[in-house]
Amino acid sequence: MRLHIPFSEIPEHGVRIVISDRSWLSDDLGEKAESASAEVQLTKKSEERIEIQGALQVELRLICDRCLAEYVFPLATSLQLIVESPDGDRHWRIQDMEGSGDELDTLQVSEPVIDLADILCQQVYLALPAKQLCGKNCLGLCIHCGHNLNDGPCGCHKDQAANSPFAVLAGYREHNKKK
Ligand SMILES: [Zn+2]
Ligand SMILES: [Zn+2]
Repeated sequence: MRLHIPFSEIPEHGVRIVISDRSWLSDDLGEKAESASAEVQLTKKSEERIEIQGALQVELRLICDRCLAEYVFPLATSLQLIVESPDGDRHWRIQDMEGSGDELDTLQVSEPVIDLADILCQQVYLALPAKQLCGKNCLGLCIHCGHNLNDGPCGCHKDQAANSPFAVLAGYREHNKKK
């Protein structure tokens, strides 16, 4: 699968590209990916503007920020953007700005080539959650012994609570309140 596509090779009626392997992943993402696939439609808006529409799926092995365990995160996102390569002709730029009111993200490239792998990987990075958690209810690690509390309570937590003089006091207060 060729992932560098010169604008000049994109036919007038557009082209659909299905990538069912992980060839488009960067080294960094490739290390973490269990599986990956992408499908895009390239549409020629003009000689200098190509619209990319599509979707991608990737399953990434991530490390939970809270419990430090590895988990698999299924990431799916869609994309729609314009890639444009100004040819240095000022007339063209002015015309373009006056012309369409399309609000798609625009990616400026110096060469009239679509670097599909790079574009898709950027979309993955954008779609990654800022906080990576194995689950919404991840309990994290015990601050005393480092035990992963998702695997069940650790001994030290229970002992400390029971042996603490404050626990006894708290129990006493609760008891009195009910009266
Ligand atoms: Zn976790
Ligand atoms: Zn503990």
